[in-house]
Amino acid sequence: MTATVIDGKAFAAKVRGQVAEHVAKLKEEHGITPGLAVVLVGEDPASQVYVKSKGKMTVEVGMKSVEHRMDENVSEAELLAMVQKLNDDPTIHGILVQLPLPGHLNSDLVINSIDPAKDVDGFHISNVGLLGTGQKSMVPCTPLGSLMMLRDHHGSLSGLNAVVIGRSNIVGKPMAQLLLGDSCTVTIAHSRTKDLPSVVRQADIVVAAVGRPQMVLGDWIKPGATVIDVGINRIDKPEGGTRLVGDADYDSCAAVAGAITPVPGGVGPMTIACLLANTLTACCRANGLTEPE
Ligand code: NDP
Repeated sequence: MTATVIDGKAFAAKVRGQVAEHVAKLKEEHGITPGLAVVLVGEDPASQVYVKSKGKMTVEVGMKSVEHRMDENVSEAELLAMVQKLNDDPTIHGILVQLPLPGHLNSDLVINSIDPAKDVDGFHISNVGLLGTGQKSMVPCTPLGSLMMLRDHHGSLSGLNAVVIGRSNIVGKPMAQLLLGDSCTVTIAHSRTKDLPSVVRQADIVVAAVGRPQMVLGDWIKPGATVIDVGINRIDKPEGGTRLVGDADYDSCAAVAGAITPVPGGVGPMTIACLLANTLTACCRANGLTEPE
């Protein structure tokens, strides 16, 4: 069997196109421009790349993009004051504080200082609680993008066995909540899981969010299963230079799976598209307008 490749790049372009259409309508009919503010602390090279690409795509869909760069040594009080300023700014509908933050800053405190209605990353404790209880919330972008691809591929997910490998607050746990919300039977695996390959072999859907390059192997995959590879890892090429790989060993998994997301070009582009979709949703909610579906 050769797996269907789920094209996250094309899907994300479609989502961004829909967001852009909605933004144009908001401007035309209501004179409102959704605004997204990104706060970046320090000089982490990967974070700088993400923030740049988020800013570019925000502008491309017609939204206002604001970027606040703060010094590596910024005090917690200064960062909290910046978040407060953005909370109070009516032209800003989405606020994202790029993680990871330098060690002297308390990430939980900072994230929970964001107005939950503007928390487009969905990491605020209120949004986590709303998602966990099946209420309307801001949904974290990477799991949301993964769910959209799964729904698009499968139609209904009801009754399918899903194994999520990874239990982080950013990916694994919200992914499991979303799959449960779609009536999957969900197992969350992690570093202490016994005999991970046999757990994964039960899955109709495997979500790999481990942060270990090419860890999930083809002989762990039930024939025909869908593999969503969240991992983004940079590894050395034998001939020199580096390349990006996921947490699944693509070639061996693609030989057995029914469908698989590539890295790059799978979950990654969907994450940014969902960030823009969340900003649009936040803007519509703030203005009492109908939300996009
Ligand atoms: P974390 O490091 O926060 O979590 C990793 C999880 O994997 C932990 O729960 C850990 O278990 C588990 N784990 C680690 N080693 C093993 C193992 N050998 N067997 C089973 N489970 C294991 O990572 P994130 O959730 O933040 O990210 C996961 C991956 O997704 C990374 O590659 C990251 O780069 C990528 N990512 C991609 C995004 C995108 O846009 N595509 C966005 C965010 C992340 P334990 O809890 O027991 O330690």
